[in-house]
Amino acid sequence: MEHPSHWSTFNHSWDYVTVNAADLLAIWEHGRQLAPLRRARLFSALEPADTRGAPLPMGASGARMLHLRRRLFGSDIAAIAHCPTCDAALELSMQVEDFLAAANDDILAATHSVDVDGRTLHFRLPTLEDLEAIDPSLPIADAQTQLLLACVSDHDRAHAIHAEAALLTEIARSDPLADPHLALSCEACDEHFTVAFDIAAFLWREIEAWSARLMADVHTIASSYGWSEAEILALTPTRRQVYLDLICA
Ligand SMILES: [Zn+2]
Repeated sequence: MEHPSHWSTFNHSWDYVTVNAADLLAIWEHGRQLAPLRRARLFSALEPADTRGAPLPMGASGARMLHLRRRLFGSDIAAIAHCPTCDAALELSMQVEDFLAAANDDILAATHSVDVDGRTLHFRLPTLEDLEAIDPSLPIADAQTQLLLACVSDHDRAHAIHAEAALLTEIARSDPLADPHLALSCEACDEHFTVAFDIAAFLWREIEAWSARLMADVHTIASSYGWSEAEILALTPTRRQVYLDLICA
């Protein structure tokens, strides 16, 4: 069964952040003003520039977010998902590479095609920009139709409307990283279920938690030593931790 996921991070190792602390804090400050899809585009854009110039298929954006996640916090993903039947917490241990392995190498091809009712339907893969362009108040079925129509030429629209299911299946097959799901089973009640793994939302929660902790550390150090935020952020994580240990000793 399909169930909305309730992901939360836990047991995070915070010493992996390899990006300048002040820069990541600025990203957090900017990101909190953005809607989730716009934030996902920000994350995708933080990886080195794509030479193609066109909006990326969602799975390619997802791959870029995974690379960013690895650069910030490492490969190990520890998360908790809740069983939809008994609410037991399932501790999950995954790797960034597990998701990247699902990516389709063919994803950047400009057009894809599927044969439906004896006719070939050409389409491009949906992008984050396509999703952002959809009125969020639309019922899900209408939003889905609008998304599909954005991905076919005018000439193929009438055919696409009658081939929505085939088109959706082919898009999911062509771009598995666009909407990654995990198949899980609950040891407590033996329920089998799948959960969606929203890469951008997961990464955002990690950045929020990291920022909250960093600002608490800045507060503690500034209160004791009177140093400025910039001075404290410029310290290496190791030195910041030594000062925190001294303050708490
Ligand atoms: Zn269960």
